[in-house]
Amino acid sequence: QTREALLEVNNIEVIYNHVILVLKGVSLTVPKGGITALLGGNGAGKSTTLKAVSGLLGSERGEVTKGSILYRGENIAHANPADTVKKGVIQVMEGRHCFEHLTVEENLLTGAFTRTDGRAAVQQHLELVYEYFPRLKERRRSQAGYTSGGEQQMTAIGRALMSKPETILLDEPSMGLAPQLVEQIFEIVKRLNEEQGVTFLLAEQNTNVALRYAHTGYILENGRVVMEGAADALRENPDVKEFYLGMS
Ligand code: ATP
Repeated sequence: QTREALLEVNNIEVIYNHVILVLKGVSLTVPKGGITALLGGNGAGKSTTLKAVSGLLGSERGEVTKGSILYRGENIAHANPADTVKKGVIQVMEGRHCFEHLTVEENLLTGAFTRTDGRAAVQQHLELVYEYFPRLKERRRSQAGYTSGGEQQMTAIGRALMSKPETILLDEPSMGLAPQLVEQIFEIVKRLNEEQGVTFLLAEQNTNVALRYAHTGYILENGRVVMEGAADALRENPDVKEFYLGMS
């Protein structure tokens, strides 16, 4: 199945603080309507790759110093995050990042900040988010900081959805969650992909679960892509089995 490339990362180099070279020529293609997994161990460069795409690198003194990041053919390598959100790409950061003192619903509404289609449309979209996350509807008046880890992850994804994104960059959704919850989150990702057509690029250390839900995968090691392919093929690859699937 061939799909149109929505996002193309071409041979990017990323440097933090002007000196620390972290990505050493990463290339990847994210097809429209697909789920693409970015795999690899701690510090391999997964988060950095997502932040390069979303524009969040800038707030961490990181910079794309080589290569290009094309979204629908337009180079967004040096765009600011708000402009990138307007183009349809939003990142859900690792560690869930809710506004702890706001309620769950207020958190979700903050995700609509770039929208210009009016209150009614936003309200309707909120109901759609609640369809996918009924738990968040139950918890909508709770202060986000007092909700569980799973609920906070759902809030973070729901908040991203409120911008009506075409593409979500999802960083380590499984982190710190019990296996059953991880499965629940990935099931929702799958439904959003199939029913709402949301394209996903997700970074995961949990290779096992990621390759069960993704269509294609890239494995990063030390700032370089060392392997790529269809998710099924990667799951059957002896090196992947030995070095990555055993871990999770
Ligand atoms: P993890 O799952 O641990 O986040 P990762 O694959 O996402 O791993 P990155 O977070 O992208 O990896 O980190 C890649 C490398 O860049 C690491 O060596 C890390 O120490 C370094 N790094 C990340 N952020 C910064 C920063 N703001 N300043 C300097 N170095 C950084």
